[in-house]
Amino acid sequence: MRVTLSMIEGGDFKKAGAATSALKRLLKKINMDPADMRRAIIAAFEAEMNVVIHAYRGSMRAIIDSTEIEVEVRDEGPGIPDIEQAMQEGFSTASPAARQLGYGAGLGLPNMKKNSDVFEIDSTVGQGTRVLYTVCFRSQESSETGHNSIRAISTNCRQCLYCVRVCAPKALRVYDGKPQILRELCIDCAACIGVCKSGALTTASAMSEAQPFEEKVLLVPPHFLAQFSAAIYPSRVLAGIRKLAFREVYLTEAWENALRSAVIRYAAEEARQLPVISPVCPAIVNLIRLRFQSLIEVIAPFLSPFEAARNQFNGQKVVFVACCPCQLTALTAGSFSRNVEVMMPATFRHVVQRVVMEEGVEERLQQVRIIPPANGSALNGILEACGMRHVIDVLEKLENGRLRDVRILELYACECGCYGSPLLTEQPFVARYRWSRTQVEHAIAAKAIRRTAPLKPRTGMGLSADVSQAIEKLSELEELAKSLPGKDCGLCGAPTCDALAEDVVMGRARKKACPYVIDDAERAP
Ligand code: SF4
Ligand code: SF4
Ligand code: SF4
Repeated sequence: MRVTLSMIEGGDFKKAGAATSALKRLLKKINMDPADMRRAIIAAFEAEMNVVIHAYRGSMRAIIDSTEIEVEVRDEGPGIPDIEQAMQEGFSTASPAARQLGYGAGLGLPNMKKNSDVFEIDSTVGQGTRVLYTVCFRSQESSETGHNSIRAISTNCRQCLYCVRVCAPKALRVYDGKPQILRELCIDCAACIGVCKSGALTTASAMSEAQPFEEKVLLVPPHFLAQFSAAIYPSRVLAGIRKLAFREVYLTEAWENALRSAVIRYAAEEARQLPVISPVCPAIVNLIRLRFQSLIEVIAPFLSPFEAARNQFNGQKVVFVACCPCQLTALTAGSFSRNVEVMMPATFRHVVQRVVMEEGVEERLQQVRIIPPANGSALNGILEACGMRHVIDVLEKLENGRLRDVRILELYACECGCYGSPLLTEQPFVARYRWSRTQVEHAIAAKAIRRTAPLKPRTGMGLSADVSQAIEKLSELEELAKSLPGKDCGLCGAPTCDALAEDVVMGRARKKACPYVIDDAERAP
């Protein structure tokens, strides 16, 4: 649903807030969750006030779907000469009149960013400013419902189309220079972030480093600890982290080990159909629910290690360092996520960098350490496969009944397991080597936690909920697909000709996005 809310008059403090009120009325009508609505409204009000305080006039429009709201506020005004400076808390160029009324404290833009999942701003001096923000409906966000943590910043896109080609479930489109994620298809694997060199694809915003750590428990993955250098080994990083103000610090590896032991026991149960798939990587669970639905029942009925750790600390304030978007999504879904904050690796690295360089941080190395089985290892009958291409091959073999010699499958979306997450920077094999030389004792009895509800298939996009309409659209789609060249070159911005045909039928694209399509008008003599 696309709505234009109202015009905003610069300098008119009496009517200030009218556009935000219109948005609020609309969101109440669609029964939006109060927490999501609050974030959307705070950001809208700040954007509206910026127009009233600084510009001549402006407008607010919103696009709402079942997963998110996107709000755009454009103004005609003096523009912002230095956006970086304007984003700093406390920086303000508001007039004394605005300040007297209690506005213009320099918190508007930072507040908008804080309350949104994606925030974009561009400005031309002498012409005006445009802000665009998205609030994802977190209360509904869950790997169960197919929501995810990948966000697009369209102004950064250079239209290289690498993301469209790398996305295994064909969830990405780049039409008219704007990357779009089809959320029903996205499995949060982050492959697109890995190939996008212009920063047009990113994760939903997580905790910033400014938050206080006191009284909180930190859970950090070993993959993060191995990201520094040959001179700063994981044990040194961990010793540095322990100097921060966290109440307690644990490694998520403890829950990975607990899950592995639980899956080994589960696979050993009498009459168990083998192999079983470990739910260690949420992106792979998403993939199976979307594309390999006959294998859902093969997934061992446990939570992923991050979810299990989160539930074990239920009721306490916990900060996780997540290595990837699927972990972020899993951590922020459902009722157990209430006291959970998530930091992404780049942010936490910034925090940690300072303390690991300090004197007196101990480093302990051990030459030999038992590490999880490498690719293809037969230890405990576990076959580990990493990287989407290999995982899809393995799942196809499994679906065809050709893996009878395997007991357990540990499948990871990223090359080299979580060490290969596109959000981490160290070469994955180097990082894994460094971790393998590190000695750490886990000071907690980590638990594997059983799922309370079975995993359900993900429905994907679908043509229509109404069967007769879906059939009509299907025949339209087939006709259209025949009229496309069948090159599957991706130049249109869709991964295949069939995907473009479906997008045209569903109103997401125009047929002439295909450069080989000649308009009837052009054909005419
Ligand atoms: S995260 Fe993975 S599935 Fe989602 S859009 Fe990116 S590449 Fe596609
Ligand atoms: S990888 Fe995708 S989002 Fe990134 S610049 Fe290329 S087309 Fe745009
Ligand atoms: S392999 Fe690890 S880092 Fe990569 S998607 Fe899966 S859980 Fe996330």
